[in-house]
Amino acid sequence: MTSRLNLVILGIQGAGKGTQCKRLSATYGIPHVSTGDILRAAIKDQTPLGLEVEGILAEGGLVNDELVNRLVDERFTQPDAAKGALLDGFPRTIGQAEALDEILGDDGIKLCINLDAPIELVTERLSRRRVCQECGHIYKDSDQSAISGECENCGGPVIQRSDDTADSIRQRLSLYERDTAPLLHYYEERGLLVTLNADQSVDEVTAEIEKVLAERGLA
Ligand code: ADP
Repeated sequence: MTSRLNLVILGIQGAGKGTQCKRLSATYGIPHVSTGDILRAAIKDQTPLGLEVEGILAEGGLVNDELVNRLVDERFTQPDAAKGALLDGFPRTIGQAEALDEILGDDGIKLCINLDAPIELVTERLSRRRVCQECGHIYKDSDQSAISGECENCGGPVIQRSDDTADSIRQRLSLYERDTAPLLHYYEERGLLVTLNADQSVDEVTAEIEKVLAERGLA
């Protein structure tokens, strides 16, 4: 069996996980699996799942492990994940990391890339973040597409995420410290953790990730 390129991208909200995953997905031909995107799509479509989680996301809380584990398990049964995937926003708790190891079995996580950024930087980035509701492209409030409200990629509406408010940002950052930071230890213990400085340009961060993957013979 060929080895799958399963990568976990960790980092505080606003560290640039989504932006980097979109680029890496195009470069390596593996899907960007963002549990946040999956949940937001369900909310937009008002599916039973969407209705169940809508309030939790608006407040910046965490959806329960069982539910997101099931979503990820299902996602890995899709053919485009046969060569691996870039996981963004999952796992977020130790329980989810253990479930992921079980889902993937022997051909599991090859590397966990931790994008490290100071709180002041991400708070500023999140409050200025705008996103296309159709294609998920991420903009800054000063970008033309954010000002006009029309995505230059796909023409979709560019909006501010409903959880990118000051209160919700504060809540998500504190949950990150409590639930997600212990994951660094989880992957470090397994020799799978690489921490990179996310306080650099988008291109510089991408180049560093590609270098690490090449050095490890992963891509
Ligand atoms: P951010 O990292 O900016 O919080 P995401 O798009 O990753 O954004 O997630 C948005 C929201 O979706 C989270 O605040 C949480 O409510 C929910 N969510 C996403 N992934 C998970 C997960 N793995 N476990 C629990 N809740 C999740």
